[in-house]
Amino acid sequence: MERKITKQELESLRAKFSCGTRVELVQMNDVQAPPPGTRGTVQYVDDIGTIHVKWDNGSSLGIAYGEDACKTLRERSCPRCKTIYTDPPALSRRDNQTLLCPDCGIREALEDAGYDEIRRETALAEIIKARQEAGKKMNS
Ligand SMILES: [Zn+2]
Repeated sequence: MERKITKQELESLRAKFSCGTRVELVQMNDVQAPPPGTRGTVQYVDDIGTIHVKWDNGSSLGIAYGEDACKTLRERSCPRCKTIYTDPPALSRRDNQTLLCPDCGIREALEDAGYDEIRRETALAEIIKARQEAGKKMNS
């Protein structure tokens, strides 16, 4: 049954299941498997295509390539602040790879502009407030 993953398959698997992707378990061949429907956060995909997941119930069993099944959710978990969000993610300026929540995207930009933590959080709170007010106006 076990099938070796090709380099190309591994690449597309890593693109689909990037760190912070939220998944829901469909089925897993393991007596200790979390029940179907359990949600979790992808940590990384290893070289044999196993998706390493931190499940919300505390389990950390990986999803084996070609054996187990899960589906991706629209929500993502931010690796920086651990918040679960559904807005389009921001690309980290640190590695041009990690996907962050939009707020942490702003945090990094403010960091790079030389803001210390207190000024950063104050500015971010103002940006969030302005965004909410703009949203309210659009809805009214
Ligand atoms: Zn964040």
